[in-house]
Amino acid sequence: MSDWKAIIGLEVHAELMTRSKMFSSAPVVDSVEAAPNTAVDPLSLGLPGTLPVINKQALDDAMMVGLALNCEIPPVNQFARKSYFYPDLPKGYQISQYDRPLCVNGYIDVDLSDGTSKRIRIRRAHLEEDTGKLVHIDGESLVDYNRAGVPLLEIVTEPDINTAEEAEAYARKLRAILQYLGVNSGDMSKGVLRLEANVSVMHRDDTGYRTRTEVKNLNSIRSLYRAIEYEVARQIAAWESGEGVRQATMGWDEQRQRTVVQRYKEDADEYRYFPEPDLPVVEVSREWVERVRARLPELPDAKRDRFMSEFGLSRYDASQLVAEQAVAHYFEAAVATGASAKTVANLLLTSLFSLLNRDGVERENIASTKVTDRQFGQLAKLLDDGVINRPTALTVLGEMWETGQDAEAIVKAKGLAQISDTAAIEAAVASALAENDALVQRYLAGEEKLFGPLMGSVMKALKGQGNPQLVRDIITRQLEAKRG
Ligand code: ADP
Ligand code: MG
Repeated sequence: MSDWKAIIGLEVHAELMTRSKMFSSAPVVDSVEAAPNTAVDPLSLGLPGTLPVINKQALDDAMMVGLALNCEIPPVNQFARKSYFYPDLPKGYQISQYDRPLCVNGYIDVDLSDGTSKRIRIRRAHLEEDTGKLVHIDGESLVDYNRAGVPLLEIVTEPDINTAEEAEAYARKLRAILQYLGVNSGDMSKGVLRLEANVSVMHRDDTGYRTRTEVKNLNSIRSLYRAIEYEVARQIAAWESGEGVRQATMGWDEQRQRTVVQRYKEDADEYRYFPEPDLPVVEVSREWVERVRARLPELPDAKRDRFMSEFGLSRYDASQLVAEQAVAHYFEAAVATGASAKTVANLLLTSLFSLLNRDGVERENIASTKVTDRQFGQLAKLLDDGVINRPTALTVLGEMWETGQDAEAIVKAKGLAQISDTAAIEAAVASALAENDALVQRYLAGEEKLFGPLMGSVMKALKGQGNPQLVRDIITRQLEAKRG
């Protein structure tokens, strides 16, 4: 319908959770929890006379990410100096990689809501060091160098993304992969994972790209989505009004839900990149690559496929379960208690997710709720074994969610066990049929849909705890007997 489409490329910065920093032995600490400037050494401060040493673990971890993103690992990579001044960068340059990055030419396949999937190509992933952090308090600016020198992996896509939904799917998938690899917590509120979107729009008559803007300060995947929607609409309007789009670095104003210009740039930034003279080039043997590849854990796509074949789940259910590693763990642990995978999946994706939603608990924090995976599995097992029926299971889950008690204890204490005692059900059916004789006569005369109300009145008499299959069978039997 529209004459315009969006062209989007994402740049993601991911800190690597190594023990020590990228080029020194100073520890990597939680930059939100740790007291400022307690994890610094002369190198983090850029003091004269210090020399960097490459952290082998950071190279291994970064390579593992590259392999998980289907990248090639060229035989040689090299660090380069990127010069710029900023108070959080005391050396006056950042050690990054420029024309010889560690990883190139990868891709991620993302699943979209219309059931299709799309391949987003990854141009490169290179290693660099993080900068310090400026803290502005009461009109003063302070610098915390704990973060300075923390290994940082920058992952850059081709401009293959065309909607905010695709951008969101890419960001979620990438975050899940980093979490599965155990190299990054994915906690965007702590800034360990940071997103930037390059956005332009293309008219259907265009033969090339138009000017793009770069949107920073995206502190959540939700902000990424909103910022893209906003920026695309703004650019289309700007082109249509004849005003046009100027190349700019923009920020996302969370409060006003709009992009704002931070600075205009006419040309490429002049970083005066040159090979880092204090570090050797890194030669990566094929044996090294294969050693790292052998350490790759089961990644989300493989786990999804296994959940489908091993447990008979649908692709959609399986991909929902693997989207957060914590959810996948929870699911498998619950199934390990002996419950059927389908019951667990069903109860988890509907009822447990809606409790998480209701109380604003992130899915990745599923393990921190009062319902342990083992308890959840036991609840599913009670349902499998016919001890309780489904409506009762939901009641019991609600109670477990509040109190952390075992399902079985709740069922016992509240007398919620399903009634499977044939004699009791037969008595309830007989009296319900007697009380509803008019309905029974109409049913026998051919109004078969009246079975539902008859079933309802029996279930009501059994306080909702009748075993539905038994109840159905016994009603059928007694009705047929009346036909005589
Ligand atoms: P560099 O940072 O070296 O200048 P590019 O400008 O080519 O590299 O790309 C930086 C990011 O911008 C990449 O993620 C890329 O996909 C994206 N990008 C490039 N061209 C466009 C465009 N016209 N519209 C949107 N994003 C783009
Ligand atoms: Mg960049």
